[in-house]
Amino acid sequence: MASLLGDTTCVIHPDRQSVARCPSCRQFFCEECITEHEGRLICANCLRGSVHEAAAAPPRKRAIQLMPLLQLGFALMIGWLLFYLVAGTLADIPDDFHDGTIWE
Ligand SMILES: [Zn+2]
Ligand SMILES: [Zn+2]
Repeated sequence: MASLLGDTTCVIHPDRQSVARCPSCRQFFCEECITEHEGRLICANCLRGSVHEAAAAPPRKRAIQLMPLLQLGFALMIGWLLFYLVAGTLADIPDDFHDGTIWE
């Protein structure tokens, strides 16, 4: 890792050796250009961009998409229970109707 960074220079200051690589734009920056934001290194340009991105798109899409599936499963279970109860009720009726309707 150190040897990899040793050959690179800051993209903004070509005369300075880079100390870190921005994980967002994948470019190398010197100590002055890179900054730490929420526990990770990021360049000044990406820091400005990521602040807007985080506010616009919170990383919670997966949890939200799961809810309709749970509701669908619950609705199917209720529907099956109702069908089972109605079918069970209807199944008792034909026995009464069949008396006198079936020729022997
Ligand atoms: Zn960057
Ligand atoms: Zn720099």
